[in-house]
Amino acid sequence: MVEKCWRIPEAEKLKNERNQTEEDLEKFKIIADTATYGLAITNPEGEFVYVNESYARMHQYTSEELIGKHFSVLYDEEQFKVAERLKNRAAHVGSFVTEEVWHKRKDGAVFPTLMTGHTVKDDRGKILHFTATTFDITERKQTEEALRREKEFSQGLIASMQDGLFVLDSDGVHIDVNPAFCKMTGFSRRELIGVGIPHPYWPPEHYEEIGRAYRKGLAGESENFELNFMRKNGERFPVIVSSSRLKDGQGNIISYFATVKDITEHKKLDQLKDEFISLVSHELRSQLTIIIGALNTALSEEKHLTRDEMRRLLQDASCEAESLSRLVGNLLELSRSQAKCLTLFAEPVDIRNVVKNVVKQITQWNTSHQIVVDFPRKLPSVFADQLRLERVLYNLLENAIKYSPQVGEIRVFAKPESRHLVIGVSDQGIGISVSDQAKLFKLFQRLEDPRVEGVKGAGLGLMVCQRLVEAHGGRIWVESKPGQGSTFFFTLPLIAKEHDIPESGSASYARRS
Ligand code: ADP
Repeated sequence: MVEKCWRIPEAEKLKNERNQTEEDLEKFKIIADTATYGLAITNPEGEFVYVNESYARMHQYTSEELIGKHFSVLYDEEQFKVAERLKNRAAHVGSFVTEEVWHKRKDGAVFPTLMTGHTVKDDRGKILHFTATTFDITERKQTEEALRREKEFSQGLIASMQDGLFVLDSDGVHIDVNPAFCKMTGFSRRELIGVGIPHPYWPPEHYEEIGRAYRKGLAGESENFELNFMRKNGERFPVIVSSSRLKDGQGNIISYFATVKDITEHKKLDQLKDEFISLVSHELRSQLTIIIGALNTALSEEKHLTRDEMRRLLQDASCEAESLSRLVGNLLELSRSQAKCLTLFAEPVDIRNVVKNVVKQITQWNTSHQIVVDFPRKLPSVFADQLRLERVLYNLLENAIKYSPQVGEIRVFAKPESRHLVIGVSDQGIGISVSDQAKLFKLFQRLEDPRVEGVKGAGLGLMVCQRLVEAHGGRIWVESKPGQGSTFFFTLPLIAKEHDIPESGSASYARRS
């Protein structure tokens, strides 16, 4: 009886415990089965004894298909070695944590995972099971890759930007600068990163102005500023700074970044344009004044003037009108070439005729210079626009006359040379020093020389010559010594056949209608 009383509660207790364990197991199984990450258990040989739904699904298997299979089915050859290594580590130290391993789906496609593994051992330390939790990190990897690409792209963009870029933190300390900004200022990246206000490229005399602009930029009051910066060598240069601010979620400024455009050339061009307008209008006005004066005198004094006086007045007016028309012509050629719409009406041209025409035009203005044309008897034709060629030769001959105050001889000569004809205009005038020769062929370049003070000109002729010659595929240069005269040379392509068009040159070709 006593024995019976003892036995019943013990059996019941055992039964209860078993029920509890079974209940717990069932709960854990439900949790494991429904987990969003993969869970797998293998025996010591590496065969699956349990996989949850997520684990099976991420590999495109069903749980039933995986049970009993060796875990190697889920890896390619290389990644299997990694998984084996992890399994050995777990066997020795009990676990491994968050390792990146690439798994293989049923269809052979691989995907990245993060794995954590453990061993389950018995009381004597014998391995009973290996467990692994596995997260499919494909999406995370894709995001990381997209971010990496985006970063690479923006870094490439910043590095290849023509404009300078600097990035400051909220205290005005440089956190980044691009190569263009370093090139512009002459400061290296290392010299700028970590450097705060006042920045080394702020000219001390503009601290206040730049500081004001910076504060406005920070406050978002304005975004574009025209300022003066300073290069490392102390040179000041004008810039346009366009700024932006980057804020965090609370609206605090995290960084301030600005693009910087060096507008030195722009300013120079502006200045050149102003000079151009004032020079050309001055030239135009003085020539017009002479024409109007001569014509008015001819009209008002008609009755008192002799025939010769009247003729001289009209000739003066005609000469100035001619010169005015040439100036306007040069301006037009320059603007066409500048706008890249210079059209050459090229055809085979006998250079002798061109020179004859130009000499005739020039000598009608009573020059006392002797013009000698020195051409070989046989000269091949050139492929050129005759009127443009006349303009080039006129400009060169006019210069030869203008800059030879002691009069003397002017020679025009030509000689064929391989595929080109070289044409030269030489004078015995004031000559040009080597350093001054480097300044020629640029807009408005007029050399100062007391011997030719008062000689009129707009500093356009040689530039127009260069543009026209180069448009034909030729080149132009000068050889000269001060006091010993100058020779201007230019080349033109020779032609074998009528329709040979030179390869070089910066103009389009057309037929004159
Ligand atoms: P412009 O004659 O109208 O001033 P150009 O462009 O034709 O303009 O010439 C530019 C400058 O080059 C001239 O002002 C002059 O100083 C110099 N130059 C041109 N041709 C000669 C020359 N044959 N001899 C000496 N100086 C010359």
